Order: sequence, then structure tokens, then C-alpha cells
Amino acid sequence: MKAAAELPPLREVIRAHGLTASKALGQNFLFDEQLLDRIAAIPGDLSGCAVLEIGPGPGGLTRALLRAGARVTAIEMDRRCLPALAELGEAFPGRLRVVEGDAMKLNHAELMAEPFAVVANLPYNVGTPLLTGWLGGEQWPPRWTSLTLMFQEEVARRIAAKPDTPAYGRLAVLGQWRSTAKLAMKVHRSAFTPPPKVMSAIVHIEPAPMPEGVSAAVLERLTAAAFGQRRKMLRQSLKSLPGAIEALEALGIEPTRRAETLQVGDFVAVARELTN
Ligand code: SAH
Repeated sequence: MKAAAELPPLREVIRAHGLTASKALGQNFLFDEQLLDRIAAIPGDLSGCAVLEIGPGPGGLTRALLRAGARVTAIEMDRRCLPALAELGEAFPGRLRVVEGDAMKLNHAELMAEPFAVVANLPYNVGTPLLTGWLGGEQWPPRWTSLTLMFQEEVARRIAAKPDTPAYGRLAVLGQWRSTAKLAMKVHRSAFTPPPKVMSAIVHIEPAPMPEGVSAAVLERLTAAAFGQRRKMLRQSLKSLPGAIEALEALGIEPTRRAETLQVGDFVAVARELTN
């Protein structure tokens, strides 16, 4: 058994366990321990906190989270990574639980007995549906206390985008109507092995109070319609949504405006009218 201080460098772990990055599994590993420590610091002080990590892979970020004092539950679907993660668990006795499986199919809240922070560097095609699931539930505040997630930079910018910018859309409203979403750190593509084609960035999201009288499902339908045809005026794009034009008028929002000119709070107000 190895003590935490004597963990071998990550590149050695990869070599010893034959962990070549799989393209099919969207694997881009992080090896720079200083960078990983900085990522693990984004959620704030984690000592004694429960953390859910998705896609630990060879365990670079997992290590950093454990070093920061967290108790980690990690969901990984690549069985090849399990022996390396088991070794890591031995170095931090009782602090790492590895769950083998597909994070898209597991019920995260059921897995966690207490409130938890989510921290993950995972494939973009998995990250976005997980994010919309975490942000979209009717139950608020959610069981998670924060989300710290790596995305391709363009997606990260969309989540944290402000009105009247090209990046502003459904993801921005979803990320900001009852949470705060911040672009916490840019990560250069060369930090990954193998390097992905595009730059990455980490988004940090914390739940905020939920506006009263608004259904998440109604808001989702509203933004889907409004941004589904983002170039069109709202009176056109919201035609298919019963009551929407009347709601705009009741709120004094000109139906000739386009979706991207509305503040997040405007969408909330329209959704409230539609929910009533
Ligand atoms: N977090 C590690 C590994 C990143 S690669 C690091 O930063 O170095 C992404 C990891 O997510 C891989 O190990 C891959 O096997 C895992 N993964 C991909 N899809 C997954 C899913 N649906 N559920 C759980 N893990 C998944």
C-alpha cells in the first residue's frame, strides 16, 4: 500500500496499467498536478465534503480532490481504469468510492447520501446532457451544492453568456435563471493527452433561489421556441406557444424583439405568466 505522498506520477500510472486513451470513450487525460490542484480548488474548501466525480479515468483529478480533503464518489465506465483507481483508494483510505457504470444511466442523487459537489472533466457529449439534467429538475434547491465542469470553451461561454451576445441562448437561460454560472478557468488544449482539437474551459455553477411561480418545464419550452428561431422576432418564434404573445404584451415586452435581447429575468417573467 502506498501513502498519499508516494503516489507515482500519473504518466507512470498510465504506463503501468496500459491505459491508452480511447477515442470512443472521449478520453483526454490531464497529467499536470498543479493544474489539477487549481481545478480542485475552484469549488472552494472541500475538506470533509462529499464530491461526485464523473469519468475519473486514470484518476488525476480524483487525486487532486482527495488531496484537497474531499470524500470522493467516482463513476467510471472504462473498466481498464479500475485497478489504477483502486490503488489511489488505498493511498486515501476510506475516502474514495468507485462506481463502475455509465453516468448517464445512474441516479446520482440516490448514489449520494448527503449534499455533494460535482467536479468533472468528462467528454463533451456526456457533459452537456448531464448538465441539462442537473440544471433542469423541478426540485430546487437541488441535492448538489455546486457543479465544476470542463467543457469545450465555446460551450462554456454559452452557459455563462450575457444577453445581446452571439453565445447567449438556451444554455445561458438554463444556467442562470436559478443559478450563478461563471467561467472559472480556461484550459489550453495542450494540457490534455491527447490534445483535443479545441480549447477548453471550466464552468462553475452554484444554485441560487428559485423564482416563485415558474415551472422549469414551461421555461424550457419557452426558450426552446424563442431560440429555435433566434433570428426571428418573438411574435413569430413564439407563435406556436399558446399564451406567449399575450404574456409578452402583458409584461410590456415588444413582440418585435428577438430572443437574444431578453434578459434571463424576462424569460422567467414570461414563463411565470405561462405557468399561471
Ligand atoms: N477526468 C480524467 C479523465 C478524463 S477522460 C482526467 O481529467 O484526466 C474522460 C473520462 O470519462 C474517461 O475515463 C471515460 O472513460 C469517462 N467516461 C466517458 N463517458 C462516461 C460515462 N457516460 N459515464 C462514466 N464515465 C464516462
